[in-house]
Amino acid sequence: MNFTRLIPLFAITLALPVESTIAADQTIALKAARLFDGKSRALIQNGVVVVQGDKIVDAGANVAIPPDAQVIDLGDATLSPGLMDAHTHITLDYTNYQATRLREMQISTSAKAYSVIPAARATVEAGFTTVRDVGARTYRSHDCIDVSLRDAIAKGIVVGPRMFVANYGIGATGGHFDEAAGFRDGLFGPEPDVADGIADGPDAVRKAVRFEVRNGADVIKAAVSGGVLSLTDEVDTPQFTPAEMAALVDESHRLRKKVAVHCHGDQAGREAIEAGVDSIEHGSFLKPETLTLMKNKGTFLTPTLMAAEYIKGKLEGYPPALQAKALAAYNARSEMFRNALKIGVKISFGTDAAVFPHGQNAKEFRLMTDLGMAPIDALKSATANDAELLGVTQKLGTLEKGKLADVIAMPGDPVQDITATERVSFVMKEGKIIRNGPATPASAKTAAQNGMDEMGADF
Ligand SMILES: [Zn+2]
Repeated sequence: MNFTRLIPLFAITLALPVESTIAADQTIALKAARLFDGKSRALIQNGVVVVQGDKIVDAGANVAIPPDAQVIDLGDATLSPGLMDAHTHITLDYTNYQATRLREMQISTSAKAYSVIPAARATVEAGFTTVRDVGARTYRSHDCIDVSLRDAIAKGIVVGPRMFVANYGIGATGGHFDEAAGFRDGLFGPEPDVADGIADGPDAVRKAVRFEVRNGADVIKAAVSGGVLSLTDEVDTPQFTPAEMAALVDESHRLRKKVAVHCHGDQAGREAIEAGVDSIEHGSFLKPETLTLMKNKGTFLTPTLMAAEYIKGKLEGYPPALQAKALAAYNARSEMFRNALKIGVKISFGTDAAVFPHGQNAKEFRLMTDLGMAPIDALKSATANDAELLGVTQKLGTLEKGKLADVIAMPGDPVQDITATERVSFVMKEGKIIRNGPATPASAKTAAQNGMDEMGADF
């Protein structure tokens, strides 16, 4: 036994942060020098958010604080709606590609489920109170770890962000989501099928959507073009026909689920947008004409700049075929992102956490602003825009009366220094204080550091 592995677990036990013990009807007033309300184009000075139970009852500049309220003065900080990340894989850890491929064949799904608990905590402690978790493939298993993690968090068993989950991503034989790709044919028995998210032809795609929804998916994820971290496809080729995409979107929308598609390539992107998908994930090679089509259709772009950034930083850790694809995607994405800004495409904030360590989601903000996005718009992408994409604007995304009390604070002024988002110091989710001060030391540990490397992120 490796005793060093025990230390992080022990640390978790000793270092539980301040969990709220406040009665359900207790009123809390959060004060800070500034407030970002999630929708305005400027910060508000002397911000106050009044919370009762799990709801915001008032928010704004110098709003009246009820006499019985517990006041938490956060000083020279900025209050913000809880951040959202529309592209995570909390149940996966792809930070060590080769080790992950092997580990996936060794670990049980129950061991995997326990091992991702720190990743959930790291994400919410970083200020991300809501995530859209777009794929939780477990090799040769139909256990829906993302569904069970979502439910465990909702019940308060595990500390983590509110999750909207996709379960398996849907894709074509030999495509980005085909888990048999890159292994000797037949090595793992029967071909992956609809129950594994692999579907060919409109009827099979329709059945795959129904299968995901039956198993608890909140959102449908599909791969319509090749990807970076898959061994046998080209990064930008289309992997569904227009007829398959039409079936995907029609069936999902009939079941009131939105559709997020992994897509690097331009042709696949154009066809997916025409089919009516709700968001394009990555979008590395999208041309201006395709971005214009997105703008006109109101399709969201989730850029996931962090994914290529992280892979490029440790390129030698990936097989040569993946290195070439990663560089091609990296080299194309900056111009694509600048064009998307210029054209006015709706940008949703999403990172592909799992490709890089969980809890570092906020580093995406600096990448967005470095490519020309205004800091206030980057902040809006992770609040109001993501709430719109997730279909939860009635409850989340802004600091307004009646919304759920997801409130965070970061030091200083994020419009002046966007990296303030990387130093979130206070996190409240549905009125419960998850963090007020330093993060849990163990929360910085990724699942891999806790003894599990995993495969299946889908950049
Ligand atoms: Zn992904």
